[in-house]
Parts: sequence; structure tokens; C-alpha cells
Amino acid sequence: MKSIPHSRPTIGEAELESVAGTILSGNIAQGSLVDTFERAVADFIGVRSAVAVSSGSAALHLSLLALKVGKDDQVIIPDYTCTALLNVVRYVEASPRIADIIPGGYNLDPLDIKGRLTRDIKAIVLVHSFGLPADIKEIKSFGVPVIEDLAQAMGADYRGKPVGSFGELSIVSFYATKVMTTGEGGMVLSNSSDLLERVRDLRDYDEKKDYKVRYNYKMTDMQAAMGLVQLKRLPEFIEKRREIADYYNESLKEAPVCLPMSLEGRGHIYHRYIVEVERGLSSIIDSLKKRGVDAKMPIYKPLHRYLKKGSFKNSLNAWNRALSVPIYPSLTDEDRERVVEAVKEVL
Ligand SMILES: *Cc1c(COP(=O)(O)O)cnc(C)c1O
Repeated sequence: MKSIPHSRPTIGEAELESVAGTILSGNIAQGSLVDTFERAVADFIGVRSAVAVSSGSAALHLSLLALKVGKDDQVIIPDYTCTALLNVVRYVEASPRIADIIPGGYNLDPLDIKGRLTRDIKAIVLVHSFGLPADIKEIKSFGVPVIEDLAQAMGADYRGKPVGSFGELSIVSFYATKVMTTGEGGMVLSNSSDLLERVRDLRDYDEKKDYKVRYNYKMTDMQAAMGLVQLKRLPEFIEKRREIADYYNESLKEAPVCLPMSLEGRGHIYHRYIVEVERGLSSIIDSLKKRGVDAKMPIYKPLHRYLKKGSFKNSLNAWNRALSVPIYPSLTDEDRERVVEAVKEVL
């Protein structure tokens, strides 16, 4: 039997047609479709405007530069996250100030941040991990500029307002495994025209009045053509993710696992469906693989393990226990039944 991949983009004829039309038009680099895509995403999130870039990492990099974060500055990032966040802090020659996540969850812990605040901290990268909105209100109250990271949470909401509309800046990734995709790609969003002007200026290098180091972080119209179709389908994608999550919640309630956290007033979009097991995570993953279900640890390795310093109790706990099972709009009813059967058997 064919195994069920852990994640998979949901792409169809409409994307194919849109991209094909763009290729044949000859306007394949950054052009007017990128502008249209920026406008559409800004409207969807409810912010003034947006700048499309080549990846989520590029979006984070330019956001830090727009906030003028540099040498001798520090940036708070979560421990339980991907190394992209660590990279971008290093790109601008700042230092990471790593903070723990909340107990039993995966988002930044406001109390832990509070204990780490100093004058050198110039930004907080607030990731809405796996689709569940983080404690935005508490974290904004520290008065440090917040960059919301929606790479896994496009379309999630906090008290009825879309995430991405709270921070000084927010960033999205359109990588293949994210909520919606353009293959590779990203975007910076903000209500501040000043900040976005800096981002726009740094995104490309040609025909500028002055010289400074700039980048080639452009998105192409081919990507935007795909993104516009994906954005239209996003509400339907999210509905499907929630339906699958409900099915998993219901089917696994008697299983010996901790089900995903849900919080009042936060619209989870289930970019990942994660349960926690008591012990034996890697052998559970192996056994699921043997049964044709590609499950994964949602974070390959927490940042403190790479840096070999610090102790982050909740992050370590998540690393030892979190199991991510397939969830995406194109997962069939038969696939999700197979996932549940395999999980029940293995546990
Ligand atoms: C994927 C991801 C990124 C990086 O995005 P790329 O487009 O791969 O550079 C940043 N932050 C989070 C939370 C992500 O999941």
C-alpha cells in the first residue's frame, strides 16, 4: 500500500492554468501580478500593505533590517522552532535571546520572555506555531517591537482578528509545505508605510539613486499567479484542516495521547496536528512508517540543542513527546481513517 506523506501541497488545474498563462505572457519576473498578490494578501489579513519576497527567511531578514536591528542588539526567538529564525538574527549580526514555550503548548511563554527582557532587546519574533495563535496581547504589552511569524498560521485569528494584524510587522512563508504555497516565497506585511518602504527598497538592487547593500529577494509573477489562486482557496483549505482535526480529536479521545491544545478565542488552523506521547517517540514514528503513515517530530531539533547552551524545560518536553501526523486539505477520508487506525495500533 502507498504510504501517506506527512505533508503535501494542494494544487490543481486552476493553479496550472494561471501559471501557464503567466509564462506565455512573457512577464515572468517580478511584475504587476506580484503587486496584485501583495494587495490581495494585505486585504486578507487586514493590514495597510505588503511586500512580496522570495522566502519566509528573506521576509524575516528584511523585517529585522527595517527595524534597524544590528550588531550589539538582541532578538527574542522561541527555542522550539526552525533554524530559519536563528539564521536571520545572525544575518544582521545580532544575538539570539532564546525563550521557552508555554507548558503543554508550543508558542512563546510571556512569563519566560519577561524574565529575559533587557535594554538590548530590539525585537521579538512571535511565531504562531503550527497554526495556533500565540499570546499576542501579553507579548505586545512588553513594548518591544513584535514581528509576527505567520509561516504556519495564515488565516488563524485571535479574538476574531486575523493574526498578522497585531505586530509592527508580520511575515508569511509560501514554501511548499505551508498553509498555501507558491513553491518558495514569502511576504512582509505592516500598517507602517515607513517600515514597508525600507523592506521594498532592500528587496532589489536595480535603478537606485544611492548605493547601499541591497538584496535580490524578489518574487516572480509565476509565483504570484499561483499564490493568487491559492489565496482564493485558503478559506476552503482551512475549513478542511479543521474538519480533519475534529475527526482526529474525536477518533483519538480514548487513545493514550495528549490531544492538541485549544484555547478560547483563538482560531486554530491546524497547519500541524500534534499529539503528545508519554515515551518512545522515535520507535512510534518507525512503527507508523512501517504501517504506511509518515509521521514526524514537528521540530527536528530545538535551537538550544544546536547551540549547546541553556535549559528550556517545556521545549525539551515538547521535543521528547510531540508527534505530528498527516493533515492537509487533499488528505482523503480513507487516508485519515488509516492514520487513526495506525496510531491506535502502535500505541
Ligand atoms: C518555514 C518557516 C520559516 C521560513 O520560511 P522559508 O520560506 O522556508 O524561508 C520561518 N518561520 C517559520 C515558523 C516557518 O515555519
